[in-house]
Amino acid sequence: MEPTRKISEQIEERARQSDKPWISFEFFPPRTEKGVTNLKKVIETLKAYKPEFMDFTWGAGGSTSDLTFDLCKMTREEFGENPNMHLTCTNMDASKIDIALESCKGSGIVNILALRGDPPAGQEKWEQEGGFQCALDLVKYIREKHGDYFCISVAGYPEGHPAAMTEMSMDRLDSLSATEKERYSTDEKVVKEGDLETTSNVINVCLDDAFKSEMEYLKSKIDAGAKMIVTQMFFDVEIYGRFVQACREYGINVPVVPGIMCIANYGGFKRMVKFCKTRVPEELMSQVEALKEDADALKKFGVDFGIRMCRRMQEMGAPGFHFYTLNTSPVTVAIIEGLGYHATAATAEGTVFTGVSGNA
Ligand code: FAD
Repeated sequence: MEPTRKISEQIEERARQSDKPWISFEFFPPRTEKGVTNLKKVIETLKAYKPEFMDFTWGAGGSTSDLTFDLCKMTREEFGENPNMHLTCTNMDASKIDIALESCKGSGIVNILALRGDPPAGQEKWEQEGGFQCALDLVKYIREKHGDYFCISVAGYPEGHPAAMTEMSMDRLDSLSATEKERYSTDEKVVKEGDLETTSNVINVCLDDAFKSEMEYLKSKIDAGAKMIVTQMFFDVEIYGRFVQACREYGINVPVVPGIMCIANYGGFKRMVKFCKTRVPEELMSQVEALKEDADALKKFGVDFGIRMCRRMQEMGAPGFHFYTLNTSPVTVAIIEGLGYHATAATAEGTVFTGVSGNA
C-alpha cells in the first residue's frame, strides 16, 4: 500500500503556506468494544477540523499493540487521516518491535512516536526487560533497520522527566536557582508512621544539572534521527517558551509541538498533575479549587484556559497544537472553535460543547 505522508514533510509544507498553527489529536486504545465504537464517533467529529495527524498510544509492554495498530490502520483506511503510531520499548524485545514496524510498512503507516514507555501497571519504577533501555535505543534501531522509511517523533519534557526530578521539603525553596524556581512544582506527600498519617508539602524540581542532562539526552534522540518533539502536558505556559528556547540553545532545531491536556474535570486534573509532577501556577490552582464542586463551570473555565494557553503559544511561535483528547471531543472542540478552527462538515456527535467565555 502507498505510504502515508511523513508528518515532517507535511508540516514543513504547511508552514510555508500559513502562519496559523496546525492541530493534531491523540487517542488511546479503548478497553471495550463499546469504547471503540465511541472512539470512532469522536474521530469522525474531530476529523472535520482537518487535523494534520492523529496519534494512538501504545500500551505498556505491547499490551494494546494489536488494537493500537488496528486503530491506526482504520484511521487511514476508513477516515482518510494520517496516523502517528506510538511505539514503546518497555518490555518489548526486538522481535516484537520488528513485527510492529513490519505491520506498519505493510499498511503504509510511516509515522512513529518512539518512546521508552511507562512502567507496566502495578510497577512504580521502570526496569529494563527486553533489548532496549530508552527511547534513544529505539530511534537508533528504527533508523538502522529501516533507514528513512519512517518519520520518527519523540517525547520532550519541558519541566524535566519526573524521574529526573528531586523531591525536597518546602523550606529548601530559597536554595533553588532562578531557573529552578521557574520549573518547580509542589505536591502533598502522605507519610505513614504506624497508624498515624501526616501530610506535608514538598517540592519536585529538575535541578539545573539534571535539566542539562535531559536536554543533552533529548539532543541525542534528535541526532539519532527524530524529526519532531511532542511535549508532555504542562499548565504553566511560559515553561513551553523557555523549553523551546533551551532546545534551540542545545542545537535542537526540530519543531517542538506542545501537548495540550484540557482541564475537563477536577479529579482528572489533580491525578494528572500529581502523576506528571507538573507545575500549576498558584492562580490557576486557586481558580480550579474554587470551581471544584461545579463541574460545568470548571469545564467552561478549562476551555477558556485552554484557549488562552494556545493563543500565548501561538505568540511564542508554536508550530501546532497537539491535543490529548482522552477519547472525548467536547472540550477539545470548544477550545479549537474558540481559536477559530471550524468544522468542515456536520459532526457525528451532533452538538458540541458551547458557552465559552473568550470565544473568538
Ligand atoms: P526516554 O526518552 O527513554 O527518557 C526517559 C528518561 O530517562 C528521561 O529522563 C531521560 O532523560 C532519561 N534517560 C534515558 N536514557 C538516558 C541516557 N542514556 N542518558 C541520560 N538520560 C537518559 N507511554 C506509554 O506507555 N505509551 C504511550 O503511547 C505514550 N505516549 C506518550 C506521548 C508523549 C507525547 C509523552 C510526553 C509521553 C508518552 N508516554 C507514553 C509516557 C512515556 O512513555 C513516559 O513518560 C516514559 O517514562 C518516558 O518515555 P520517553 O520516551 O520520554 O523516555
